[in-house]
Amino acid sequence: MAVDTAQYKPRLEQELATLTEELKTLGIHNPEVPSDWQATPTDVSTEADPNIEADRTEDWDERRAIVAQLETRYNNLRRALAKIEAGTFGICEISGEEIEADRLDANPAARTCKAHLNDEADLPMT
Ligand SMILES: [Zn+2]
Repeated sequence: MAVDTAQYKPRLEQELATLTEELKTLGIHNPEVPSDWQATPTDVSTEADPNIEADRTEDWDERRAIVAQLETRYNNLRRALAKIEAGTFGICEISGEEIEADRLDANPAARTCKAHLNDEADLPMT
């Protein structure tokens, strides 16, 4: 039975648009690699105060961690939309089984069925 993608596509597109705006405030999009976002530094001041330097490094690490997290979500959304186009939406990437409807309702960008939930993080990015 084919998954009805009509209810999921607008949700995915909406979330992708919101997420793209959020990523733009934190980083820059690599034009050559659509899956890649680079965090931009928060402070471009050139002062060499060691305390400020330490704070800046901390901010920078935090910012990169946030961008990395959002980037993963961004790529999951893009992948889900590509899967709608390809006709493979709602299929577990590990077992090839249909993903449960309640799992898709909770997360339309889910890549696996419930049985393979814990393996999702190990799947390749693209
Ligand atoms: Zn599975």
